[in-house]
Amino acid sequence: MLELEAGMKKYKNMQTLLAHASIEPDQHHGFVNTPVYRGSTVAFPTCESMREGRQKYTYGRWNNPSTEALTQALQQLEGAEGTVLCPSGLSACTTAILSVVGAGDHLLIADNVYSPIRAFCEQVGQRLGIEVTFYDPTIGAGIVDFLKPNTKAIYTESPGSLTLEIQDIPAIAKVAHERDILVIADNTWGTPLYFPSLELGVDLSIMAATKYIVGHSDAVLGTVSASKRAWDSLKRFHFNMGLFASPDDVTLALRGMRTLDVRLERHYKNATMVAKWLETREEVEAVYYPALESHPQHQLWKRDFKGASGLLSFVTKPSTQAAVDALLDSLSLFSIGYSWGGFESLAMIADPKPVRSATSWEIDGHLVRLHIGLEDPSDLIEDLEQGFAKFNRLRG
Ligand SMILES: *Cc1c(COP(=O)(O)O)cnc(C)c1O
Repeated sequence: MLELEAGMKKYKNMQTLLAHASIEPDQHHGFVNTPVYRGSTVAFPTCESMREGRQKYTYGRWNNPSTEALTQALQQLEGAEGTVLCPSGLSACTTAILSVVGAGDHLLIADNVYSPIRAFCEQVGQRLGIEVTFYDPTIGAGIVDFLKPNTKAIYTESPGSLTLEIQDIPAIAKVAHERDILVIADNTWGTPLYFPSLELGVDLSIMAATKYIVGHSDAVLGTVSASKRAWDSLKRFHFNMGLFASPDDVTLALRGMRTLDVRLERHYKNATMVAKWLETREEVEAVYYPALESHPQHQLWKRDFKGASGLLSFVTKPSTQAAVDALLDSLSLFSIGYSWGGFESLAMIADPKPVRSATSWEIDGHLVRLHIGLEDPSDLIEDLEQGFAKFNRLRG
């Protein structure tokens, strides 16, 4: 939770930044990586030094070299005024919201949002007196019709992590900023490498670092990075709530960040191959992956994104539950599970129908979400191909 220090190195190119940010061997006896600083108490030499509070580190929760290494690297990556770390991706989402929205305020939320956010709004938001309206994620500048005098923030998730709609964030930001409304974006899918959210008008940029930043499915962590406009309230709220991320998890995230670019590039290539292959399958009704020309917001994706990551969905032709279960159960290279963003491929069945209110999901057939990992894509395709054979036997 530090502001960019004067004299902090600037990097022209992302790849160099990822490799070099927060590497300070002279601070750590020559070791290249910042060690894991586990600690609560920081000792002061005298009472006076404690009163003066000039010591760089004063208490573990407030700041320590491990968490600072990650926040500074992320802050540079995001081009943010400041970055905070949260114990999970979901807590990063709720922290971003509550840092700027309170009792009596109106919050707009995209209808395709990560569904625990919907539950948070309905269960916690309501109790806190926050008025929530869900909107069609494809509405773009039409968001203007949803604004009320008490609208404080517009929450976006582009693409939606289940159904992959791309939002026109620059258009939404334009409408918002003309009225002093803040834009929040869950940028877990794109990361700042593929979607430079703050540059495109977002004020609070969230990542479930659990996914691509950590990248190895071995830690849970969230980040929020703020524009100038939103930083003070984010910093204060984060501090007041006592939020803290474990130095062990933070160190795993910093390690993951070093290879973010090469991993994303491979996820992109592999997912594109699998998505194109899925499009050729007779068993598949539709494939949702923004890099496909058939994607309804492909042009928006091309305009605003520099790449696509490994998460995609497809809908099967209408079938029995047993058929789609058999398809997934028979896969040997895809685990069945939540989360995504790790090195490995994952599959799950999800139903968008019950988690929508402003729009409706009318497509019959089962929605299957895949995370395409770093395996050889031809092996993944072969695995899916034998899965479809099982599907066809039970299709009904
Ligand atoms: C997983 C996910 C989250 C929540 O992250 P956790 O670390 O599991 O709390 C938030 N947003 C999106 C889009 C996600 O996929």
